[in-house]
Amino acid sequence: MDKTSSFSSHEGKPIRCKAAICRKAGEALVIEEIHVYPPQAYEVRIKIICTTLCHTDLAFSKYNSGPVVRFPRILGHEAVGVVESIGEHVDGFKQGDVVLPVFHPHCEECRDCKSSKGNWCTRFAEDIVSNTRRYGMASRFKDSMGEDIHHFFFVSSFSEYTVVDIAHLVKISPEIPVDRAVLLSCGVSTGIGAAWKTADIEEGSTVAVFGLGAVGLAVGEGARLRGAAQIIGIDINPDKFALGKEFGFTDLVNPTLCGDKKISEVIKKIAGGGVDYSFECVGITSVLSEAFISTRTGTGKTVALGINPAAPTELHSFDLFRGKHVCGSLFGGLKPKLDIPVLVDRYLKKVYYLFAYSFVNAYKLYFISNLHELNLDSFITHELKFEDINKILLLFAFDLLEKGKSLPCILWMDKK
Ligand code: NAD
Ligand code: ZN
Repeated sequence: MDKTSSFSSHEGKPIRCKAAICRKAGEALVIEEIHVYPPQAYEVRIKIICTTLCHTDLAFSKYNSGPVVRFPRILGHEAVGVVESIGEHVDGFKQGDVVLPVFHPHCEECRDCKSSKGNWCTRFAEDIVSNTRRYGMASRFKDSMGEDIHHFFFVSSFSEYTVVDIAHLVKISPEIPVDRAVLLSCGVSTGIGAAWKTADIEEGSTVAVFGLGAVGLAVGEGARLRGAAQIIGIDINPDKFALGKEFGFTDLVNPTLCGDKKISEVIKKIAGGGVDYSFECVGITSVLSEAFISTRTGTGKTVALGINPAAPTELHSFDLFRGKHVCGSLFGGLKPKLDIPVLVDRYLKKVYYLFAYSFVNAYKLYFISNLHELNLDSFITHELKFEDINKILLLFAFDLLEKGKSLPCILWMDKK
């Protein structure tokens, strides 16, 4: 079926559709009919196929002050969609393309986007306040009363249609199932990128990961694929340990069960003096300090991924003199347009494992299993219909997230 045929008739006109609107901090989202205006130059209007609900959406539905807090707004920042129409000067995208919107910009033209180092787009990344990248506070959403609705992190995927700047859009292979691709829109890419790009883990390394949500588990997956010898997972919620095993963590530690020992002492003991790499994937500064202390003197590297804008961090300068490194990583150091297609390819690539079993002097049996090289399948723990977001968002999905029982929950736009 031609994916473009059903919705291209709206080109150049507003589309009326449903969106979940966050009207006030702490209140349940309300599904309303809205108008999504046509894309302007350098913008693309996309039909969302599925989106996720994760901790960042939860946090921003509750904050009621701060520079990026505005109401009413459409949350949602991880999604997969199909291009419905394009504005002027849009190269590289056409109707029907499968695309991934990403909160982190990649203009491809500024000095930093052109450099092979880092992923900070100096042209756009400083501005986290605007609705649209090139038009400031102009919004592409209006409610039924004609009032503007604000965007969220340049994505706003809790809507059947959204408008995204091309600096925030990645074209992906239609071969990857959309419920796997959606994971690459934020947290999972961040974790894998942090392991591969920011830390650049080598084979045989020792690694500690603090916090086993989507970001931390993805760091573990990145470390596994790099051939790390020891991957230690730390979480206060033991329910996360079964998933940790699935992702190849070699040791799992609950810091609340370490008696009077600090978690850094326990990690140093397990890793014979300290880990080569540690990752903070929680967003608590005391956890960052412990992650830092857990690394090897001389060469240890700590990567801060958890976000806690309010709290200052204390690190002992003597440790820094002794060669320990610490750095932060936004979107895992990945340049979205270059690196997400690589992750898609690694998922699509199949690997074969050979298992040999020998029986008493007689038979040998060989089993070959055909698995995806990059494990995205295990990240899927819960799926919901988008239309149920109103009823169950605060009661069910967010509750699951807050109690740590769910990884990002996938919301399907069209599923009945
Ligand atoms: P999550 O809430 O799903 O996972 C956090 C995990 O940390 C949970 O399993 C929780 O039980 C555990 N935890 C809580 N307190 C702990 C403690 N004291 N010690 C050890 N574990 C503890 O979150 P997530 O979606 O995986 O995101 C993790 C962090 O990364 C968040 O702060 C998020 O905002 C941030 N994030 C950063 C980027 C980036 O680009 N740097 C991108 C996405 C998310
Ligand atoms: Zn740039």
